[in-house]
Amino acid sequence: MQVAAYAAKSPESPVEPLEITRRDLQPNDVLIDITWCGVCHSDIHTARNEWGRTKYPIVPGHEIIGKVSAVGADVTKHKVGDTVGVGCLVDACLSCGACHDGDEQYCEKGSVGTYGGTEPVIGGVTQGGYSKQILVRDEFVLKVSDKLNPAEVAPLLCAGITSWSPLKHWNVKKGDKVGVIGLGGLGHMGVKFAVAMGCEVVMITTSEEKGADAKRLGAHDVLVSTDREAMKAQRGSFDFLLNTVPVKHDLNPYLMLLARNGTMVIVGAIEPLEPMHGGLLLSGRKRVAGSGIGGIAETQEMLDFCAEHGVTSDVEVIAMKDINAAYDRVVKGDVKYRFVIDMATL
Ligand code: NAP
Ligand code: ZN
Repeated sequence: MQVAAYAAKSPESPVEPLEITRRDLQPNDVLIDITWCGVCHSDIHTARNEWGRTKYPIVPGHEIIGKVSAVGADVTKHKVGDTVGVGCLVDACLSCGACHDGDEQYCEKGSVGTYGGTEPVIGGVTQGGYSKQILVRDEFVLKVSDKLNPAEVAPLLCAGITSWSPLKHWNVKKGDKVGVIGLGGLGHMGVKFAVAMGCEVVMITTSEEKGADAKRLGAHDVLVSTDREAMKAQRGSFDFLLNTVPVKHDLNPYLMLLARNGTMVIVGAIEPLEPMHGGLLLSGRKRVAGSGIGGIAETQEMLDFCAEHGVTSDVEVIAMKDINAAYDRVVKGDVKYRFVIDMATL
């Protein structure tokens, strides 16, 4: 089937209209009319080939909300009219050890990304949510409560789960001192979740002017990472750090913030980092780890938690035609805290 979309055609070209071919409805497919799509920094890295592996043309978008408009004969989880979500994953083998453990994102045979992956039915490249419709295998479609504003739910599908999963995996608990590094799409959700989990939350930012906002989001304290004295004063005090910095950077100043047995999880920079000082790791048995998005069951658990606790993303709604200006603003850190495209404007 032919579907209207917006795509990047080369690293230099703007994101612009393109009609794409999607597979026809398969027995296990859910056809979704897309209503909202969040704008993740990964969309920009991909559209501009900053990770060096983009296959053009590419339709970004992996924070998708929509309405089910058709289902294949074997679909059991969803029905026409349901409000649903799709995140960064649209397929995996569902039989390997990782999939068995609910870690479909780490599928041993390779999970299929919502965009830029290998389309499993018709071949070619998977194309994401900056489009009118998408077909997704039943198991990879998430249920979305109608209690929440759907535009504000869209960013939960990537920014939300990517912050949620490490907090859960490393058993962050009530009373822990948690630092969230970088107040962007991921970071603002990290703050909200850690606050909801009863942690003492410190927003660690390069932008002093974001301090008041961080407190509005629930952070108990704000630490400006360029202020050496302030960083020194909090040395050795954090149980957990969620590092969302999107580019290569020096981890050492942040490592110094960790308490004994503390862990810093990298979710932002998907590229080589500056060298770490081993001494900072071994004194106090500290860990640096990484985490990629989250599994399907875990994403559903996060969405259900958000519906129950009224947690959503802070969004700025844009029209599809304004996507390129929005990209420039994300790169400048000028968004509070996620752009979401109103897909009715495509
Ligand atoms: P974003 O909205 O641009 O937020 C990143 C924040 O990091 C900025 O707002 C800024 O916050 C801070 N920052 C930017 N440059 C910095 C620098 N040079 N040094 C220190 N801090 C800096 O991006 P996002 O959408 O949250 O995504 C963050 C990163 O995660 C991206 O690289 C994205 O590709 C990646 N990502 C990873 C996964 C995963 O599975 N692990 C999933 C989704 C996204 P302050 O102004 O507060 O300093
Ligand atoms: Zn993303």
